[in-house]
Amino acid sequence: MCRVIAIANQKGGVGKTTTTSNLGIGLARQGKKVLLIDADAQGSLTVSLGIREPDRLEITLATIMGNIINDEEIRSDYGILSHDEGVDFIPGNIELSGLETSLINVMSRETVLRTYIDLQRNNYDYILIDCMPSLGMITINVFTCADSILIPVQAAYLPIKGLEQLIKTIGKVKRQINQKLEIEGILLTMVDSRTNYAKDISNLLIENYGSKVHIFENSIPMSVRAAEISAEGVSIYKHDPNGKVASAYQSLTKEVLCNE
Ligand code: ATP
Ligand code: MG
Repeated sequence: MCRVIAIANQKGGVGKTTTTSNLGIGLARQGKKVLLIDADAQGSLTVSLGIREPDRLEITLATIMGNIINDEEIRSDYGILSHDEGVDFIPGNIELSGLETSLINVMSRETVLRTYIDLQRNNYDYILIDCMPSLGMITINVFTCADSILIPVQAAYLPIKGLEQLIKTIGKVKRQINQKLEIEGILLTMVDSRTNYAKDISNLLIENYGSKVHIFENSIPMSVRAAEISAEGVSIYKHDPNGKVASAYQSLTKEVLCNE
């Protein structure tokens, strides 16, 4: 059965995109059929999968969602690209911001993406969706079609306030549109082993959310090697196979597989 996981946090720069690509490729390395979707107008996931200029692409998530809004039929392989390391992906680019604005006037505006995902569920074991750093209409579309949400939290800032808003929004979508929506877990990212922040934040998270939300045992260490990969268009497993970040994403992959 297919699992659709959204990687979301409206706070920018917390490791959403890095987690989407490396968890996705991690799952593919374990033999799973994986589709990654770039639901961010910045197109960072698309760049990190080797497309240098996403804004020049003709078919992206915005095109596909536009087709659905216009009630046009689409083939299930339409617009899908593939990456050398075994994942398929749907690119995203700046056109998603225009689409977000025009969604306001669309019938069933929250369920446009769900119509598309339902078409793909039979074709993949995992669909991972990289969200933009906002809780606008595109992100609501992602929450409406997801089975669960993985929340990366950067270890170096006090995340509690933003998290509350995020968890509230997830609860609202769950109650009103998508009853089966769950939180996959909170993932601590960019952990700098030279500071005590991570321990403090981890304790704070457990204190505040531990009873309600799963907190991944694994966290992702801070490393320049991880920061380098988006320019290379490859995963951390290829760029720095023996490094600590590759090993952390491998362990995260196993934790996610255990939640199946
Ligand atoms: P946005 O909100 O803009 O979409 P994001 O949450 O998707 O950001 P990323 O793009 O994954 O975050 O990461 C932000 C920056 O931090 C990027 O430059 C990335 O290369 C870098 N980065 C990600 N993970 C790590 C890490 N473990 N160690 C060091 N740098 C990292
Ligand atoms: Mg991103």
